Amino acid sequence: MKKIFIIFIALLISLNTAVANEKFEFRYNVHDNLPKKWVTEFNNIMDVLQEVLPIQDNMNDYLKSSGMDIYAWKSTKNPFPKVKKNMKGSCICGDGSTRWMQLEIPSEELAKKYIHRYSVIAHEYFHVYQITLSENKLSDRDSPKWLTEGGAKVFEEMYVNQYYGKDSLKNDLKRTEMWSKKVLKKPSLYEKHKTSNKRGMDDNYTGSAFMVLVLVNELEKNNISEQQAFQLVFSDFWIERAKHRKWEKAFEKTFEMSTEEFYEKLGKYKRGRLKKILPSKNLKIQDIFS
Ligand SMILES: [Zn+2]
Repeated sequence: MKKIFIIFIALLISLNTAVANEKFEFRYNVHDNLPKKWVTEFNNIMDVLQEVLPIQDNMNDYLKSSGMDIYAWKSTKNPFPKVKKNMKGSCICGDGSTRWMQLEIPSEELAKKYIHRYSVIAHEYFHVYQITLSENKLSDRDSPKWLTEGGAKVFEEMYVNQYYGKDSLKNDLKRTEMWSKKVLKKPSLYEKHKTSNKRGMDDNYTGSAFMVLVLVNELEKNNISEQQAFQLVFSDFWIERAKHRKWEKAFEKTFEMSTEEFYEKLGKYKRGRLKKILPSKNLKIQDIFS
């Protein structure tokens, strides 16, 4: 009996190490100018994300690095002078030979407790997830901006709704000055950053988020659940994206409609009618990524 018990323990230990080894490594470089509370939440959020949306450890080629450095700081000039000069903004950034994550948290967001101070972590992490599933097909040339950024925007809002009980999705969508009617009339403009980045067109990627929510709503009409529809948009499309030369093909395969068909349906929506398309408040990310 004792022997069996020891074998069992040994097995458990080896299983654990196997799991630990498979995990993609994120290295945290958190500036000491950030409040303790933010750092605690950052650690928690990263733990949840890595559990629910794990990044496979064989993704180094696509991320052009062995593991990934994350630099986080409260807005200040030249936060990490020894590593890289004058980092600015939040992004998955690259210099051609390597990639890293930047999280610049404005003092105002911390002082006024804007939820964006946390949602930005989920947003940038989600881009890493998209990069790995699609095998690095995230640039404007490779995938439509509205699916890339709209997906990340909707995901981050869902995250903070679930864990902090608040989000800014509805408010942003209600503010018509943040996004343009062109979403309905000329959606192809939202396939590229450069044709949709004028002020008021897609501020905070609100127009792109509207497009993603309409897509989910249309998918639900095919008798699939809200969770399944989000899974198609958040994961399946990106997995399919890796297999095709053109994103339009991946779109058609995943959603069983062409981009043109979708844009036509989108044209029938109204900006003010949000009730139908906003995600259910009780939707959990664990139900989508399972
Ligand atoms: Zn983004």
